[in-house]
Amino acid sequence: MGRSAHKMEARVLGSTGINVSVISLGGVAFTWLGKKRAEKLIDFCVDCGINYIDVYSGTAEKIKEALKRNREKIIISTRGNAKTLENCLNEFNLDYFDIFLLSMIDNKEQLNQAIDEANDLEKFRKQGKFRILGIATHNPVLYKPIIESRAFDVMMIPVNCVDEVNKEIFEEARNQGIGIIAMKPFAGGNIRKHDSTIKYVLNLPVSTALIGMARIGEVKQNIKVLKKPEITAQDINFYRKIRKKLGKIFCRYCGHCIFPEPCPNEIPVRTIMMLETLAYQANLRRTVSERILNSIKSCKKCGLCEKRCPYHLPVRKLLPEKVKHYLEITR
Ligand code: SF4
Ligand code: SF4
Repeated sequence: MGRSAHKMEARVLGSTGINVSVISLGGVAFTWLGKKRAEKLIDFCVDCGINYIDVYSGTAEKIKEALKRNREKIIISTRGNAKTLENCLNEFNLDYFDIFLLSMIDNKEQLNQAIDEANDLEKFRKQGKFRILGIATHNPVLYKPIIESRAFDVMMIPVNCVDEVNKEIFEEARNQGIGIIAMKPFAGGNIRKHDSTIKYVLNLPVSTALIGMARIGEVKQNIKVLKKPEITAQDINFYRKIRKKLGKIFCRYCGHCIFPEPCPNEIPVRTIMMLETLAYQANLRRTVSERILNSIKSCKKCGLCEKRCPYHLPVRKLLPEKVKHYLEITR
């Protein structure tokens, strides 16, 4: 028997004519959820009116059946390039992706390559293998050149009450008909007051807040915010406090410090920056190996990771602090 989905506010993605629900499902949790829970999560989201799901290569075995049975109701995006697109379609057993994103684009050189890649991808669009071309970046310096390039239909960028986006960017994107997908609305797990930050994001001219949800309870809680979307004095106070607290020290987990080249001393910088999030995901149990926790001892303070970080975080100083805090909060 077919399930009927609830309605959720939807916004158009730039000038693509495609409507996406204001809350959408980021696929990060599919990397660790089992098949049953991943499928249940997708079905539940679709029933709640969430019609946009972003998926990662490597998770297809767990979710491709759920995607298939909901295919008519959902917009699916993934990342890759002209070489990986067809494999990715095979992996998910799909005929097309609605949105195909070029990701890990965080400097001018990578952007120029992405613009060339966009040309190469046009033939696949004509063959019906994807509908919309997008670009995902963490680097605010690139927002304007991306819009001006006119090579992309949508832009996926971090938007949250710490990562403020210049208002002009929204205006220029709107003028060029480029849709904005707000990723990292909870600043990669650093913001725990989800209701305030969802309101913040959705009060901006973004098309959707892409949230990496893992549990049905989380979906319910996040959707509840849509009933009272107005920003209150209490929310404004929270934005002020969180900006002061996190300022320029929070990691967006973009991975540029270790990708494509790893740390010369094999320190898994991104994982260490993520330790608090991993701790909360594991209910404050210590699941990260001693080997990873001890790896920071071989840091030679060369600063390469800091040079690669688009946010100029003081990684060398933060690494030992992250490990210390993780050991304190985990049992
Ligand atoms: S500063 Fe440390 S963690 Fe960063 S790249 Fe150098 S050795 Fe690796
Ligand atoms: S330290 Fe910087 S480059 Fe590395 S994951 Fe965090 S934000 Fe990205």
